[in-house]
Amino acid sequence: LVSRKRKPEDTIVNINGEAIGSGEPTFVFGPCAVESYEQVAAVAESIQSKGLKMIRGGAYKPRTSPYDFQGLGLEGLKILKQISKEFGLAVVSEIVTPSHLDEALDHIDVIQIGARNMQNFELLKAAGATNKPVLLKRGLAATIDEFINAAEYIISKGNDQIILCERGIRTYEKATRNTLDISAVPILKQETHLPVFVDVTHSTGRRDLLLPCAKAAIAIGADGVMAEVHPDPAVALSDAQQQMSIPQFDEFYETLQKFMKSYEIQ
Ligand code: PEP
Ligand code: MN
Repeated sequence: LVSRKRKPEDTIVNINGEAIGSGEPTFVFGPCAVESYEQVAAVAESIQSKGLKMIRGGAYKPRTSPYDFQGLGLEGLKILKQISKEFGLAVVSEIVTPSHLDEALDHIDVIQIGARNMQNFELLKAAGATNKPVLLKRGLAATIDEFINAAEYIISKGNDQIILCERGIRTYEKATRNTLDISAVPILKQETHLPVFVDVTHSTGRRDLLLPCAKAAIAIGADGVMAEVHPDPAVALSDAQQQMSIPQFDEFYETLQKFMKSYEIQ
């Protein structure tokens, strides 16, 4: 059902007034994890001031080590809902198990399914049975075909509001946290009718590469870019190495806007 052969026209995912997949790139910024109301509000204010419509933030964090910060859970979702109301932003947040889905649906606007859960088939089916848009990340070592099949699990339950997100894959290269598979973007756009995002934060793991990779993503035809922003990255409870501070975010976004204008992308 996700195949472009079956449905030639692009699927547009409508979120908070943004038509994702309609040609103009859209952006999802926000902290890696929800840590406090004040922390998320500081980022939300900056996002809102740029006229953007979405914010991300993890309440359930799938960490590599069980001893690392696991997220605030339901308390984090409540903070996100409050932020959403105050700042008029749609909330994108990761859900890690079908058993959290019911309580989460009342708090978030977009269900993120993370790289570690790309083949959690029960979660994919449960998200497919909702009427919320789903942002599906590519698995850590998933082929494009496996990624497309994961989206197929969601759509097979009736939900076609799916955004695919390339977030880097595991290779032998150690210069970056993952290897951004930029060619996955046009391949996914040829093979499926779904919008495709690039997460520049988790693919690179390097602040200095966020801007060039975001430019590459837009130039190659991505429908959107995701990146992490934290008011004080040095003390972030997760991904301290790669989140942008708010002044860095301002500069990143301004430079990207200029880039898009110079190539008449918007
Ligand atoms: C995230 O976006 O918060 C995240 C954990 O990313 P990924 O699933 O791509 O590692
Ligand atoms: Mn992160």
